[in-house]
Amino acid sequence: MKMRSLVVLKTQQLISRVSSSSAAVRWRAAQTRLLCSSSPDEAKRRPSMLRHLTSKLKATGPISVAEYMKEVLTNPVTGYYVRNNMLGPDGDFITSPEISQIFGELLGVWILSEWMGAGRPKQLQLVELGPGKGSLASDVLRVFSQLQSVLCESSVSLHLVEVSPVLSRLQAQTLTRDSSREADAEDELVYRRGETAAGLPVSWYRRLDDVPTGFSIFIAHEFFDALPIHKFQRTDKGWREVMVDIDPEKNDQLRFVVTPSPTLASSTLVHDDERREHLEVCAEGGVIVQQLARRIVEDGGAALIADYGHDGTKTDTFRGFKGHQLHDVLASPGSADLTADVDFSYLRRMAGGGVACLGPVTQRTFLKNMGIDTRMQVLLRNCSDPSTRKQLISSYDMLTNPAKMGERFHFFSLLHHSRLAKPKRATGMKLEKTSPAPLPVAGFTELSFS
Ligand code: SAH
Repeated sequence: MKMRSLVVLKTQQLISRVSSSSAAVRWRAAQTRLLCSSSPDEAKRRPSMLRHLTSKLKATGPISVAEYMKEVLTNPVTGYYVRNNMLGPDGDFITSPEISQIFGELLGVWILSEWMGAGRPKQLQLVELGPGKGSLASDVLRVFSQLQSVLCESSVSLHLVEVSPVLSRLQAQTLTRDSSREADAEDELVYRRGETAAGLPVSWYRRLDDVPTGFSIFIAHEFFDALPIHKFQRTDKGWREVMVDIDPEKNDQLRFVVTPSPTLASSTLVHDDERREHLEVCAEGGVIVQQLARRIVEDGGAALIADYGHDGTKTDTFRGFKGHQLHDVLASPGSADLTADVDFSYLRRMAGGGVACLGPVTQRTFLKNMGIDTRMQVLLRNCSDPSTRKQLISSYDMLTNPAKMGERFHFFSLLHHSRLAKPKRATGMKLEKTSPAPLPVAGFTELSFS
């Protein structure tokens, strides 16, 4: 067997060792909004997001789309993410980890295979950005416990970066069975701590900056699309920023306006050789990718970013979702999710040359490379219940069908350069004439036994 197939084979072996007894479908009963626990009276007393925004706009003038998005989504009192449990059939949108646990299991295998590719460091920090309900982390940890013999004596810890107190409580229920505790002081970097049933420590942070340094694998699924974007329009006079203002004709409504002169953002965030007429730039996403890159360079590790997006081709993708339907981004702010496609070409540029970037590859390609077909065959072979079989097949279709999530979602990775370096040839021995190829990275390379 050639060296090239070594990690590939390990990945295959890992997948085949993930237990097949668990039902791999997560069509849970519709979730109630129990976690939005404020009483109707409390809700009435809370200033509405629209009122908050209109008084702000009256006082300061138009705000950037980025500021609008940040306020609407993460304002500590009235923000959409801060107050709601928006995920699932009864919420505003559904995500791949919520559709099937196979998704999280395959990501768990990816994490282990990258940890092995890095030489099995003794400490492994699994860091998830925007963990939603905690389902992805829970599926990954199940794979870890099933493959405990691979992890051996390594010490694993889970670090969750979550801005929403409501969702952090839900994550704690999923991951620590309510054994978690909130920090006593509001300004503590770790605002919640707990332990999984298997005894792994779990910590919650508001910002990536607060997560301790050390070898880490970072996962961000549908996180970057929720970060604020700036919008720019090419005009005869050059690039101008799109802002949000009060509609002078209808006092309680908002509208987009274009600035008459350049703003700091329009002067600094548009690349010189930009060809598009309209542009969305997620500067906050760029800063986070820079932080990830710096950590990977300094402490080792890898990042896996999965989201809907494009490679620098799309223009106007800013949209809202409410009850699984498209929603006007400026209507009843705070009641709907706001999102924009991730521009992977921008993330690659912001990552810089210190790390290697792989992808974006489509979700279909990534999951197929990770062995989703083999995993499905095993699950179907072990499942005789017709309705579970039907659900398994339909969730597989949802994740991989090019017309569904298969081609809309992409996977992108940041890796330490050493991960792709050609292995050194042993000296003193007569070996093949050509030097061995670098080890393949699971998901981005087709699994083969060449
Ligand atoms: N990854 C999950 C949830 C996606 S929704 C899944 O795929 O199911 C986006 C998640 O990111 C939510 O948990 C939201 O609360 C969190 N989030 C949004 N903006 C954030 C920010 N600025 N900082 C930290 N978390 C954020």
